[in-house]
Amino acid sequence: MKNVPSDISGFTALDPWWRTGVPTCILCSGNGIDDILRKIKQEDVQAFFLVDSVLEKQPLFAPLFIEQSKMLFNASASEPRTDDVDQIVEFLRSRDSLPDVIVGVGGGSTMDLAKAVGICLANPGKARDYQGYGMDLKKGPPVWVLPTLNGTGAEITPIAVLRGPEKKLGINHPYAAPAVAVIDPRLSSGVKPFNRFFTMMDCYFHHYEIVKSKTSSADAVQDARDGLKLATEVLDSGVQEYNVENAIKSAMASILGGSSTIGGRVGAVHAISYGLSNSAPGLPHSIAVTISMLALQELYPDGYEDTVRFLEGSGLSMPKASEYGIGEGEIEKMTSVALGMEKLWQSCFGEGWEGKASRTFVYDIYKRIVNG
Ligand code: NAD
Ligand code: ZN
Repeated sequence: MKNVPSDISGFTALDPWWRTGVPTCILCSGNGIDDILRKIKQEDVQAFFLVDSVLEKQPLFAPLFIEQSKMLFNASASEPRTDDVDQIVEFLRSRDSLPDVIVGVGGGSTMDLAKAVGICLANPGKARDYQGYGMDLKKGPPVWVLPTLNGTGAEITPIAVLRGPEKKLGINHPYAAPAVAVIDPRLSSGVKPFNRFFTMMDCYFHHYEIVKSKTSSADAVQDARDGLKLATEVLDSGVQEYNVENAIKSAMASILGGSSTIGGRVGAVHAISYGLSNSAPGLPHSIAVTISMLALQELYPDGYEDTVRFLEGSGLSMPKASEYGIGEGEIEKMTSVALGMEKLWQSCFGEGWEGKASRTFVYDIYKRIVNG
């Protein structure tokens, strides 16, 4: 990995640090809010903003709250649901004209919401109809994003993860990728250490799993190696206080998480986490993946060790499934959900994965999680 800048002027002067081709125009910025507002003016487009409501209290974001055409999303209450998408789409269709651009401002939850709204605006069904892969969809208005919490890579991935009535699953489609991502590491200064920590854990797991993957492309693995190094440095340095160096590393690691996801695939940690998420509506993704890794010591010994060290170093306790209402009664269902993630098991084990990711193997992991 080339030199990582230690200040914002170095960050804005960076050449692309990712290898995998990405469909999103990535703009490194020292003043993301001004830059995105200026771009809207210059391109003379009607923008509709979806903004994480937590930002209303932060003076840095004041210029966005003057915008008339916006809706607030409370990402602290829940990750985005298919119903949220349907309601926003209905509201936008009820207005005189559709927006030219949807702008998502927030963490992975709000950016995914904006991405889902964009694609659903152009298609007649409900959001739940489009959860899955390989669907024949029409292109919606372009989506621009301004991440205020870095780590998921949602700012560039063609995935909009949604909680639906039946399952938590993404709309996975090339048209779901944002057209523009304005990246300003200063925007995460107000994030609580707890959220900064766990979103960076998710980033670490994306990179870790893609590095170990048996089915990911060489470029994706190389991007993931760089991202793993950055995420590890951030997590080892402690995330209690905001500092600009860590914020730059986090923003860079997040982009690498997105780029490596395009050519790569995660593995067992994510497969197990989907079972947990489906059984616990209030369990954030970033905590679900952490709980999963803590039960995968045999499969991923170094990832397990890092995870324990990061948690201890940050003074956080080990998250437990029982804190989110998951008990013995969920094990069968969670096992079936996780076993359905065939591509992730294939990524984890490679050839002969069917024999390794057996029902007993997965069942025992959930048993450890529930009893842990
Ligand atoms: P998030 O968007 O859910 O936000 C977590 C918390 O941080 C919320 O309380 C939010 O209000 C707060 N927050 C965000 N920015 C803030 C700021 N600047 N100041 C203060 N508080 C702030 O968290 P996330 O981890 O970024 O996203 C999680 C979601 O992303 C999940 O739904 C997950 O499934 C999804 N995800 C998507 C992809 C993808 O490729 N699309 C990849 C990984 C995860
Ligand atoms: Zn993840």
